[in-house]
Amino acid sequence: MRLSENALIVLKSRYLQKDSDGNIIETPEQLIERVAKAIAKADENYSATKEEIEKTTNEFMDVMSELKFLPNTPTLVNAGRPLGQLSACFVLPINDSMDSIFDAVKATALIHKSGGGTGFSFSRLRPKNDIVSSTMGVSSGPVSFMKVFDCATEAIKQGGVRRGANMGILRVDHPDILDFIHCKDKEGEFSNFNISVAITNKFLDALKNDEEYELINPRNKEVVGKLKASFVWDEIAKSAHKSGEPGIIFIDRINEKHPLSKEVGEIESTNPCGEQPLLPFESCNLGSINLGKFVKGKSIDWDNLKKTVFTAVHFLDNVIDVNIYPLKKIEENTKKNRKVGLGVMGFADMLIDLGIPYDSKEAIKLAEDVMCFIQKISKEASSELAKKRGNFPNYKYSIYSKENIPMRNATTTTIAPTGSISMIADASSGIEPIFALAYYKQVLDGKRLPYVYERLFNVLKDRGIYTEKLAERIIDNRGSLKGIEEIPEDIRKLFVTAMDITYKAHIDIQAAFQKYTDNAVSKTINMPNSATVVDVKEAYNYAYKNGLKGITVYRDGSRQEQVLVVAKKE
Ligand code: ADP
Repeated sequence: MRLSENALIVLKSRYLQKDSDGNIIETPEQLIERVAKAIAKADENYSATKEEIEKTTNEFMDVMSELKFLPNTPTLVNAGRPLGQLSACFVLPINDSMDSIFDAVKATALIHKSGGGTGFSFSRLRPKNDIVSSTMGVSSGPVSFMKVFDCATEAIKQGGVRRGANMGILRVDHPDILDFIHCKDKEGEFSNFNISVAITNKFLDALKNDEEYELINPRNKEVVGKLKASFVWDEIAKSAHKSGEPGIIFIDRINEKHPLSKEVGEIESTNPCGEQPLLPFESCNLGSINLGKFVKGKSIDWDNLKKTVFTAVHFLDNVIDVNIYPLKKIEENTKKNRKVGLGVMGFADMLIDLGIPYDSKEAIKLAEDVMCFIQKISKEASSELAKKRGNFPNYKYSIYSKENIPMRNATTTTIAPTGSISMIADASSGIEPIFALAYYKQVLDGKRLPYVYERLFNVLKDRGIYTEKLAERIIDNRGSLKGIEEIPEDIRKLFVTAMDITYKAHIDIQAAFQKYTDNAVSKTINMPNSATVVDVKEAYNYAYKNGLKGITVYRDGSRQEQVLVVAKKE
């Protein structure tokens, strides 16, 4: 396996098996073999012969060791090991009772211990100061119960694979919505949560007509107040402008686009990074194709991509069978729909190899072409599996049954952030542009060396203009080539960073991928420090108009690191 220095550091710190003294007892090649064998074993359930299983094992090993495809972190860490929990994404329901709240806390602890992330909607909890009949007291409300989850996550961090991550959702029509929007105003509060407001169609209508909308107590469905939609919209945008939170999700659109009918349940929440809406007690395992590995000369190697998508869908479907689930209920629900989430990483690498700037019409077209292809082939692959293994049990409630198309998985595609696995694959993360083209790297003797993004380094070398001084200038320029005149214009145009491009260009790419993705797309919409609250609202409108299921903006310099960035540093 050809691994970068950075990849080795990541693998050693969290992925390779260690003995009880903390010594590493596994090579990266052995890791790949352990994972491939454990996942291929599921084929036994479908009467595969020994030879067939061996062939599958080799296919899985090849795509992973060539870094063409990697499954999400829990699969890499836990497959073929006693814990055996392989999914990154979970959504747990929270009903309006102490039992339910603390059952969810327990399930959260088990999931975090195994490296998974949890999402919750707190919308069913009665508002603060509402009556509690058993004690004649008053309730403390959703925001206050979120603290319990935050503390539990903080405590588990010491013993788990990695610090856990949560998504907290509240519907915009919940009476405590204003408290929720501002619950992360103070730096450090709810640091184990990303938060998002679930925006309803009713709210959007009220916003359009500049009207009030109703706040509803979930305990008895009574209308307990009204707020001006434009006021709440402003509060969300102001808070996001100030701190990057909350994000918003278009909850009615998410349910409308869900390939399963309402009889199966309603989606209330996503996983921590927003890319995976799930039903209560559902989990999903993800995997990502490294697009940078599929450029041949100046074009895309579609045949190879097709083959890899087939292998990846086979792999992800097998994961559902060999997975050891943290709760019986999660196992049952997950196996009814068999959702998997195949996505991509290295999109920015691919663009650069093809000579296409990230903020161009050609980039939007490429995003659509690539994802349309992956979507189509993943459906073919799932359909082939269904012919051998049967449709997913809830098939009759799905859009596929109406068209009589066999399908093994209710969903096949999701665009994950790939925060850790992109480091292992040495790829640009998810569908994001390059964040910084150069930065200082610490070396052993305490010195720091400038490190330049390899594709840029090669071009600068080829043109004979690379010097260490130039690298330092790029670093001083915050990793951007903007305004560095000695770098030829064509290079500056191609190598753009996340901060160089407009929020619309970010949203255009997210929308292009969303168009051909069953689940959702993880993406940060970067804005310059000078962006205004009005810009944030415009971004929200543009996102809605372009079919996004949710949006998170991040204004440069507006506080802190996001939950998962912090997590990665540990
Ligand atoms: P990876 O690259 O490690 O496979 P991603 O960055 O693609 O993971 O994140 C995918 C999902 O994995 C997230 O949305 C979340 O559900 C889960 N996840 C990521 N990081 C963490 C973490 N530190 N703790 C718990 N879950 C996480």
